[in-house]
Amino acid sequence: MKILLVEDTRAVAAVMTARLMSFGHDVVVADNGQKAVEQFSQISPDLVLMDIDMPVMNGFEACNRIRALEATRKWAWTPIIFLTASDTAENLITAIEAGGDDFLVKGISENVLQAKMKALSRIAAMRRLLSIANERLEHQASRDGLTGLLNRRRMDLDVDMHWAQCTQAKQAFALLMLDVDNFKKYNDHYGHQAGDDCLRAVAGAIEAVIVETNAEGMTRGAFVARYGGEEFAVIIPNASEAGYEGAAHCVLDAIRKLAIPHERNADWGIVTASIGGARNQQLGDRPTDLFKAADAALYRAKDGGRNRFESA
Ligand code: GH3
Ligand code: MG
Ligand code: MG
Ligand code: MG
Repeated sequence: MKILLVEDTRAVAAVMTARLMSFGHDVVVADNGQKAVEQFSQISPDLVLMDIDMPVMNGFEACNRIRALEATRKWAWTPIIFLTASDTAENLITAIEAGGDDFLVKGISENVLQAKMKALSRIAAMRRLLSIANERLEHQASRDGLTGLLNRRRMDLDVDMHWAQCTQAKQAFALLMLDVDNFKKYNDHYGHQAGDDCLRAVAGAIEAVIVETNAEGMTRGAFVARYGGEEFAVIIPNASEAGYEGAAHCVLDAIRKLAIPHERNADWGIVTASIGGARNQQLGDRPTDLFKAADAALYRAKDGGRNRFESA
């Protein structure tokens, strides 16, 4: 385990450090509460062993601050064990009340300390597994299973955030709604499995274009989501008119360049898409107004013959 040992009495710190290291743990020592809080943010320890009486900031205050840090940074809970002089009920109650999880008496025998550390190591290992599982879950909850793009749920959250930022900074906000042309016929002709492969390829092409236009500065911070079915959305915060229109045309080109055969897509013979776009919050006060405008533009692109971009 990575242990943060907070102890101002050097002799005590030296003995504890030597013992903990002999059990195979990494130990970082801080000699007052304030340094403990700083070290905590820097090293994210698995366990904090915290003295109570210390100069500058005592152990209870340091414990409070660490708990506050955990709350703001969404860190998982880290066990904090107070080091006390004596084994009394009062010490235990005070330690728990102060946000600690337990206490250890400083003169604790070596084998008891080793046993306690063993138990805490198990908890630390479990916490690491939990945090990995949580990250995976969070990732899965925001991704579309077929294409790996952001899903609708995550897109809605991100749109709200970027909309608020753009409105505050008086920046334009743009949106492209893309719909694959004659995709029902594609499924009917090539089968649903081929349809899935096609959607994955289209998603990859859109994503690649947006990564590139972001890097080139044509768009910045733009991102792609699967809106639903064979529809995709490109969100372009702080969009210039040229950047937004350029991105739309690049996306249509990239899909044509995939050259996926589609015999029943008009005369083109390959998979194409239509895009409806809208830019600027002047179109309404809410993101849904922009989505409506882009949707109407998409309808015009379809009506006008497909395989094209129309702007609101
Ligand atoms: P238009 O050019 O007007 O958009 O015609 P379209 O046929 O693409 O439009 P429509 O909305 O009628 O059909 C969309 C089709 O997309 C119907 C549906 O079966 C298919 N689809 C939606 N989601 C998926 C999917 O995840 N996988 C596959 N293979 N097909 C899907
Ligand atoms: Mg002390
Ligand atoms: Mg559709
Ligand atoms: Mg379609």
